[in-house]
Amino acid sequence: MATSFSRLLSSRRNLGILSLVGAGSVTAAFLLHREHVTAGVPVRRRYPASAEYPDLRKHNNCMASSLTPAIYSKLCDKATPNGYTLDEAIQTGVDNPGHPFIKTVGMVAGDEESYEVFADLLDPIIKERHNGYDPRTMTHPTDLDASKIQSGQFDDRYVLSSRVRTGRSIRGLSLPPACTRAERREVERVVVDALSGLKGDLKGKYYSLTQMTEQEQQQLIDDHFLFDKPVSPLLTCAGMARDWPDARGIWHNNEKTFLIWVNEEDHTRVISMEKGGNMKRVFERFCRGLKEVEHLIQERGWEFMWNPRLGYILTCPSNLGTGLRAGVHVKLPLLSKDARFSKILDNLRLQKRGTGGVDTAAVGGVFDISNLDRLGQSEVQLVQTVVDGVNYLIECEKRLEKGQDIKVPPPHQTVQVDPDPRPLPMLTPTTPPHPHPPT
Ligand code: ADP
Ligand code: MG
Repeated sequence: MATSFSRLLSSRRNLGILSLVGAGSVTAAFLLHREHVTAGVPVRRRYPASAEYPDLRKHNNCMASSLTPAIYSKLCDKATPNGYTLDEAIQTGVDNPGHPFIKTVGMVAGDEESYEVFADLLDPIIKERHNGYDPRTMTHPTDLDASKIQSGQFDDRYVLSSRVRTGRSIRGLSLPPACTRAERREVERVVVDALSGLKGDLKGKYYSLTQMTEQEQQQLIDDHFLFDKPVSPLLTCAGMARDWPDARGIWHNNEKTFLIWVNEEDHTRVISMEKGGNMKRVFERFCRGLKEVEHLIQERGWEFMWNPRLGYILTCPSNLGTGLRAGVHVKLPLLSKDARFSKILDNLRLQKRGTGGVDTAAVGGVFDISNLDRLGQSEVQLVQTVVDGVNYLIECEKRLEKGQDIKVPPPHQTVQVDPDPRPLPMLTPTTPPHPHPPT
């Protein structure tokens, strides 16, 4: 377990503490720290980079598109201060050339510093995956004011359930691909301790995977509350299934409408969900619960990984920014058979999955439809995109039922135009934004 001293050192809050000493020394300490991080720790290699370069000729993931021999050669002998290397970060993308349903990123972060040390590779990957968002020049907005959502109630005849999830990582502890057993147990301890402070309708209980029976676990998976067992090679090749099920579990309130997964793909996944189509209510509970969880974590001296360029820092680069996936299980038996379905989804910036999760195919015309983007737009913007997009899909389904024609909508404009093209510093010594101060 981390001592309070190591926690203090690992937390970027030390910058706030240093500021008591004087502005000059803060700047010096900050620059020293950043230079160290971006340069990385040297790794000793026996063979030249050209002999180690992976065979990516059959690959179709973002890592393979961006990893040139020159970038590999520049980064392969660097590690983060925790010792996480480029080869470890890309292993999942090397071992998994493609995915049957989505274009994967093909790379993970082992810690917060991975995004600095391997920026030459991660920045172009982020740009490709996040619709042109440039992490070198752009800043990411946060907005958790659910009252701004318009038309957030779907037609319940089509929408079976609504869900909003994000992830949050505890600053100073390595992420699931790289954490030690002790770090993973520390994440569980910190999070479960904080969650015990939730009150009212959010009050609930933690269920450790190690103490659940096989049947209890399977029931939670079948009811869509719990993450699947770590069978996906995307997870196993990234090192995220090590020591399973040690320190993994699920916390949920009594109604199972507010849930937190512990130590799956991220330190935490925070989820609000319910049956039916009331997305606005689901998002309201999500925002309220998330702010409360952050407050409880901070009260205990910890904080979430965050910076102004990348937003909230998570394991998979596809989840940077908001980390938000707002989705519905929706019946679209006619539209999903129409040749224009994929184009319509693309133009609405929506993604489809099977209802059993990212690795499953859709059955019986029921799909999991969610936002494609996570970074460069706020939570409110992304949920509104899903609300408008899913309402459009339902309208199409109704038209097809009546034998009427449908239209492919024009592409949704999502790329943020940065008014200030000056590059931002690699990391700014600030704590996350609190649009709503904890109460
Ligand atoms: P995530 O992005 O949260 O990791 P996955 O595709 O891995 O999502 O699915 C995780 C679980 O969440 C699965 O059991 C899936 O059925 C469930 N799930 C996802 N979206 C919804 C939804 N709108 N309603 C009910 N369950 C959902
Ligand atoms: Mg998942």
